[in-house]
Amino acid sequence: MEIKHGIAVSHGVAICPALVLDAEDVRVPRRPVAAKDLPHQRERLSEALDTALAELTELHDQVAADLGPEPAKIFDFHQGMLRDESLIQRMVKFIEEESVTAEFAVASVMRELARTFLQQPSTIFKERVSDVYDLERRVLHHLIGEARAELDHLDHDVVVVAHDLTPSQTAALDRSKIKGMVTDAGGRTSHTAIVARALGIPAIVGLEDATTKVSAGDLLIVDGQRGVLIVNPDEQYLSDYRSHEQRYQEFESTLAQLVELPSQTTDGVDIDLFANIEFPDEIQPALAKGAMGIGLYRTEFLYLSTETEPDEEQHYQAYRDTVREMDGRHLTIRTLDLGADKYTQKRAETPEPNPFLGCRSIRFCLQNLSMFKTQLRAILRASAEGPLQMMFPLITNTLELRQARMILNDVMEDLDEQGIAFDPDLRVGIMIETPSAALIARAFAQEVDFLSIGTNDLVQYTLAVDRGNERVASLYAPGHPAVTQLIRGVIRAAGRRDVEVTCCGEMAGELEYVMLLIGMGLRRLSMTPQTLPEIKKLIRSVSIAHCERVAKRVATYDSERQVLNYLREEARKIMPEAFDNRLTV
Ligand code: PEP
Ligand code: MG
Repeated sequence: MEIKHGIAVSHGVAICPALVLDAEDVRVPRRPVAAKDLPHQRERLSEALDTALAELTELHDQVAADLGPEPAKIFDFHQGMLRDESLIQRMVKFIEEESVTAEFAVASVMRELARTFLQQPSTIFKERVSDVYDLERRVLHHLIGEARAELDHLDHDVVVVAHDLTPSQTAALDRSKIKGMVTDAGGRTSHTAIVARALGIPAIVGLEDATTKVSAGDLLIVDGQRGVLIVNPDEQYLSDYRSHEQRYQEFESTLAQLVELPSQTTDGVDIDLFANIEFPDEIQPALAKGAMGIGLYRTEFLYLSTETEPDEEQHYQAYRDTVREMDGRHLTIRTLDLGADKYTQKRAETPEPNPFLGCRSIRFCLQNLSMFKTQLRAILRASAEGPLQMMFPLITNTLELRQARMILNDVMEDLDEQGIAFDPDLRVGIMIETPSAALIARAFAQEVDFLSIGTNDLVQYTLAVDRGNERVASLYAPGHPAVTQLIRGVIRAAGRRDVEVTCCGEMAGELEYVMLLIGMGLRRLSMTPQTLPEIKKLIRSVSIAHCERVAKRVATYDSERQVLNYLREEARKIMPEAFDNRLTV
């Protein structure tokens, strides 16, 4: 048994076998092999090692001929490993003693080796870890070949273990079979985390070396509340977690009773609660959790689930179906937010040196007008079917907003000329996701119908902390006084112009921050649907005066630690069961 700690990003507990993905999505399940078939597995191993060695020798010779003997030396280590009798014997022994396939033996022994290398004090060994993985992949490639298991056709429940999951990988997974996700990389608001929360499956990110500690088929407990991963748990842990899982479900079912009740403070002020969605099939589950509408539809996932760019008709159908399904309820569609960590297949081929500060979101759209116009046409056409509003992401200056609006006007004119119906009064807003936008929110408030504060990015850009980097995750603090001051300023600027303002970052769905946001004046929150019921429960237990006192107190603090400790304590006083549920076991 091994216990590992990472960053808890999506509540719940999963108890399931591991499906370990390597960089090429190779899945190596543990399949028992009958004693009579073990010699065949040994032969397969030997053939795969020989083929890999021949391949490497050819590569070595080619590089030596083209570039000289020195560069060719990079293959010495790989070749040496494949000739290393003690390593080969370990794999053979593994096949025999564990009665497993050759590929499972290769994956297990190589990962064990990588783990040993990682534990060595000398950096020379640590630097070799990627070579070990490279070699593992090469040998597995020969063993698995065409029979690579399809991730989208899983036949049993699993916990996915990966170094990181790109949004397109996540979008392609068979979601009905994925019961948990754990990754080496990532932070609280990285997209793996957001998608896991959206899907309502327990997840831990930032574990650093889960892919080396876990082998395919290991039984895992994923504790998404505490960020604890238990590999091959003993009986005691298993029974503790099984009863914890039950208690958690009971807590969830008490929350379910709130769905029909209004989201109102004890002094009768409505706080509108909306859901953030990535995929249209999340609408019904979001409504079932009590969402009044959709406050953020992240349309870029339309791009990430396919290899090809969606055409106008595909966009239109997705938006039209969403409008129809919403049946008159509130719907905010965000225009494409591609770039940064959300790359299309094609763009991933030309990576940027600093993608979060690069050509992402509205910048990318303004440089790719035909793609942008295609989406705008589709959104406008869908607006003829029912109420919707639209917002642009990552606006950092007024020129960008004006350019985006000009393009929108062009598209409206085109549709008009073609006699195609749309809502001419479509409400247009922007996301406030950078300090620059927050500081000139007043200027924006004069030109838009609404503002939506995207704290996931606002925190990262204000604090210079990559939201997806586990090494700086402890610095990622929505309660940092610089962030709360910016939010306060945006709410004030919107209030002066009587412009609607929402918070749609993950902060809006975290119990700790809700009183603060309401106390600073927010009356609309949009969040991962999973967290909606507990947020509503908290809202129904507090008064506006109480929230204002909390916000006032927070304004006197100069450190994010103080802010978080204070807010956590305040929220715990009101909903101890939510926190106890996170901390028991
Ligand atoms: C945000 O930045 O807070 C936001 C909601 O957008 P995303 O998480 O999609 O970047
Ligand atoms: Mg954002």
